[in-house]
Amino acid sequence: MAAYEYETHTYDAIVVGAGGAGLRATLGLAEQGLRTACITKVFPTRSHTVAAQGGIAASLGNMGPDSWQWHMYDTVKGSDWLGDTDAMEYLAREAPKAVYELEHYGVPFSRTEEGKIYQRPFGGHTTEFGEGPPVQRTCAAADRTGHAILHTLYGQSLKQQAEFYIEYFALDLIMSEDGVCQGVIAWKLDDGTMHVFNAKMVVLATGGYGRAYFSATSAHTCTGDGGGMVARQGLPLQDMEFVQFHPTGIYGAGCLITEGARGEGGYLTNSEGERFMERYAPNYKDLAPRDYVSRCMTMEIREGRGVGSGGDHIHLNLNHLPAEALAERLPGISESARIFAGVDVTKEPIPVLPTVHYNMGGIPTNYYGEVLSPTKEDPNRVVPGLMAVGEAGCASVHGANRLGSNSLIDLVVFGRAAAIRAGDVVDRESANPTLNQASVDQCFDRFDGLRHANGTVPTAELRLEMQKAMQADAAVFRTDKTLAEGVKKMTAIAGKMDDLKVTDRSLVWNSDLMETLELTNLMPNALATIVGAEARKESRGAHAHEDYATRDDENWRVHTISHIDGDKVELSYRPVITAPLTSEKDGGISEKKIAPKERTF
Ligand SMILES: Cc1cc2nc3c(=O)[nH]c(=O)nc-3n(C[C@H](O)[C@H](O)[C@H](O)COP(=O)(O)OP(=O)(O)OC[C@H]3O[C@@H](n4cnc5c(N)ncnc54)[C@H](O)[C@@H]3O)c2cc1C
Repeated sequence: MAAYEYETHTYDAIVVGAGGAGLRATLGLAEQGLRTACITKVFPTRSHTVAAQGGIAASLGNMGPDSWQWHMYDTVKGSDWLGDTDAMEYLAREAPKAVYELEHYGVPFSRTEEGKIYQRPFGGHTTEFGEGPPVQRTCAAADRTGHAILHTLYGQSLKQQAEFYIEYFALDLIMSEDGVCQGVIAWKLDDGTMHVFNAKMVVLATGGYGRAYFSATSAHTCTGDGGGMVARQGLPLQDMEFVQFHPTGIYGAGCLITEGARGEGGYLTNSEGERFMERYAPNYKDLAPRDYVSRCMTMEIREGRGVGSGGDHIHLNLNHLPAEALAERLPGISESARIFAGVDVTKEPIPVLPTVHYNMGGIPTNYYGEVLSPTKEDPNRVVPGLMAVGEAGCASVHGANRLGSNSLIDLVVFGRAAAIRAGDVVDRESANPTLNQASVDQCFDRFDGLRHANGTVPTAELRLEMQKAMQADAAVFRTDKTLAEGVKKMTAIAGKMDDLKVTDRSLVWNSDLMETLELTNLMPNALATIVGAEARKESRGAHAHEDYATRDDENWRVHTISHIDGDKVELSYRPVITAPLTSEKDGGISEKKIAPKERTF
């Protein structure tokens, strides 16, 4: 057994992650008087949320008529009928409250002439239950909305006396023998000390796993650590096959150009200069949902109408927009286009390509943020002491495809919901749990094994192999053949985890070891993605299967549940929740109104 000395810290609640979701949860927990600490591997305001540009959806109706019912309908349709209805209703209904709260906390939103919060159009957001024109629902602070939110929430959390453990890398959960989460163990990166956090509630807010792919808009820190921790405890992940490709990553660099660019009037063209989205989506045009636009772009390229010398990308045009509007509403992306594509957006189009952007799947939860471990008898069984929020979680509000600006709102609505729930279920007076020493020892053994790993495959090499395989075989379009190949490749790649080679054995700023730990988290996420995709014999949302071109609600309107153990994934399925929270007579939407139908644009 590996012997590591450690310091023990005791709290009511521990949040792992200081992005938008983690900070909103931390703030909410501290506000209720729970002794709260937030652990984060990067400085809070460097979390990936800082990069969110376009904005945050809420039916404020500042720029024309809107309602939470319309927002809910769009979310249901956007999810391609795979989202859980209770959670989608909760999201749309609570969204305005959550945004006004942000405003009062101090988020510097852009303003209309009358001084109200400015809202822009975004893909898939409409009026009249999808029958009316597009709506301006996405609240924005220029094109730096995530930056504004993150800084505000960090300041507010400090004001509420939440404690921060910054540049602490969370390794594993501590679980009791009967499956109650008791805390988490973390490695302090700058001095190599070990820390055991004993808590009555652990909230995972570790973000997505975009870095399982070769080309992604997400930060290098988006390695699915929460999903890895959960999988190692024998708990499942949900709907992992649904990976969103954003239509407009900068060609070559992968950095994002926000959908807000099309919201402000930008449009896509092919090599013939044609505004091809008008042909595919006569009503929504360039503002059709992301899965659809990404597929249309891929089809244009495949049919020989891509731009550039290799005919392998598409143009995004903003040069027809007034220079002042670009400077005021899209300053950040104007800068990105200049730095990463060498393009002056007032004069030339930006070269773009669909790029991995968001993970709809994650740790399954209910709409309170409580983690689920479904069984046949009880598909909604809760894991005591454990919650998950933000991109790490799967409530599921995005189903098979997330609408733009629905993630930032998901972070704050469910960060807040989890804090409220924890306030109800955590007994402030009771003593903290007695930790299961076997669980603590197991974590240190794993850590020590990786630290001294002396196989033949360097971490960076195996990571690249995984990223290439995922990019090639779990792509925008999928076939039986590519998916079967992908499963074979990824199983072999995951099998090499026992043969890793770590060269640095120190405990202080050991990036070799940290990246190895991150790879142990990326791998189960990636494997579950490709295995889940291979099994799903239909097309739905972001999962576009060429051998099964249509959606099959009779057989496949179910959540994929994956238990991952080493290079093996065991799949089962969980029913989608179809009943809304509010009845029609109390102002809700009837189940009939949101029943599945063909998704057209
Ligand atoms: C470029 C870009 C632009 C986007 N724009 C928009 C937009 O305009 N609107 C919108 O709605 N959505 C947008 N999205 C999506 C949205 O921003 C993300 O889904 C969201 O920010 C994720 O937030 P989070 O709080 O879940 O995680 P993150 O912000 O990724 O934060 C994760 C946190 O977990 C911590 N962490 C992770 N692992 C560990 C560990 N092992 N130990 C300790 N700490 C750990 C990290 O330190 C970090 O603090 C965008 C995404 C990208 C990549």
